[in-house]
Amino acid sequence: MGDTRSADKPLTDRLLRSWTRCRRRAWLDRHGSNQLRLYTAHRTLQLDDQQRSFVALLARKPGHGLQACAQGEEGVVGLRLRSTTREGLAVEAHPALLQRRAGSSRWGDFVYRPVLARQGRRLTREHRLQLALAGRLLEQLQQAPVRDGLALAGSGRRLERERVPLGGALQRQLDESLTKLAADLKRPTPPALAADRRKCTLCSWRGVCNADAAREGHLSEVSGIGAKRRDMLIEIGIDGLAALADADPERLALQLERFGEQHGAVAAPLVAQARAQRDGCAELLAVPPALPELAEAPGVLLYDIESDPDARDDFLHGFVRLPRGLEGRWDLSRATYHPLLALQEHGEGACWTRLQRMLRQYPDWPVLHYGETESLALRRMAQRQGVGDADLAALRRRLVDVHERLRRHWRLPLNSYGLKTVADWLGFRWGQTGVDGARALLWWRQWRGTGPGGRGHVQALRWIFAYNRDDGLATWAVAAWLLAQDETLGKG
Ligand code: SF4
Repeated sequence: MGDTRSADKPLTDRLLRSWTRCRRRAWLDRHGSNQLRLYTAHRTLQLDDQQRSFVALLARKPGHGLQACAQGEEGVVGLRLRSTTREGLAVEAHPALLQRRAGSSRWGDFVYRPVLARQGRRLTREHRLQLALAGRLLEQLQQAPVRDGLALAGSGRRLERERVPLGGALQRQLDESLTKLAADLKRPTPPALAADRRKCTLCSWRGVCNADAAREGHLSEVSGIGAKRRDMLIEIGIDGLAALADADPERLALQLERFGEQHGAVAAPLVAQARAQRDGCAELLAVPPALPELAEAPGVLLYDIESDPDARDDFLHGFVRLPRGLEGRWDLSRATYHPLLALQEHGEGACWTRLQRMLRQYPDWPVLHYGETESLALRRMAQRQGVGDADLAALRRRLVDVHERLRRHWRLPLNSYGLKTVADWLGFRWGQTGVDGARALLWWRQWRGTGPGGRGHVQALRWIFAYNRDDGLATWAVAAWLLAQDETLGKG
């Protein structure tokens, strides 16, 4: 994958951003084959957020390039800044936006500062370093100091502005980071996989890295092992899935207790999980039935919510209605899909009324969902809508978390118990390939547009419904597997 000519290429702000997320990612950005990248909607969502924030910040459309700077435009985009570090490394930045401020520069009685739009709840090292690099290069261009940058958040709905000082320790961190980035890029092979593999779900190199992790038997491949546990295991000499599967659970428990008593308790389940994955065998953990609520049920509602987490907006409550057929058989051909779109402008009361109508129409049907999100969201909404304790308790009894039942009753030979991984293992296929929650959110924002008078294309909504319906059907695939196992064990 390496390329000798790449040694001459500049260190860019994009590489620095990748590097602050994961050292390996920067290396792959430079040396990896673009054909192996997988699309992620996350970047498009970020750009969409950024656009909204900039529109909310500026009174008028920003100008473009050097000419706009010379003319003193309030906002400037499209500027490429170049320089070299003290060590002679070429560096380049392409700041998303420059904002005019009072001051004195080569262009007149004003200066510029870099602006970025951040996602997530807090300003991170990644944001600070991006602003610091842009600020340093801008300083040289405008021949005036750049003392701070501006970080925006809130996607323009309730714009938050945070001034970020760019001096002192941050400049030292920037120098150190650029030196380390340059050293990493010179390596003939990529740095190790990220310690915290959760960040991989948003990374376009996840296909390459997941394959490497599986081939190497990386510890992060074992379900239940995050960055912290992995460090502990490596410290006591367990460096991969195979070594963990071979370990003696009691001895491992004693070794892990060194890091705190609570860690000893996870030794046996971790070894068992590693063995299940090594041997490819599912293991029964608790006495069946896993889903007793379904024994006499006349049907089930499969429930899945789609959300915009930054806006705290559960915009779609999707139900697949599955009645029981003749002779008590579950017949998927009779399943129908019922999406309840929850528009914020209609208020929560209207949404709750429609949800109640749906639930009351099928009073004895359990509501199956995967993970605790749906249960928490529905019960919290019910509480906010003034539902009494008895009705809340009844609602709680109706909600059946298939994920929780699966974890309680079975150990699977999988590196994750997420719906996608489990349903895929059972042979379920989503109608639309490569779609995830981020893509659904992007479609939602595209359809939502600027509000009731400016909606996007209705096709975006259809795609979301299809994705949401498939999540409901995938939940049923897992539930049906649990029922089938119960039946087999009951006969045995
Ligand atoms: S998939 Fe994960 S390990 Fe691989 S480059 Fe991306 S963040 Fe790093």
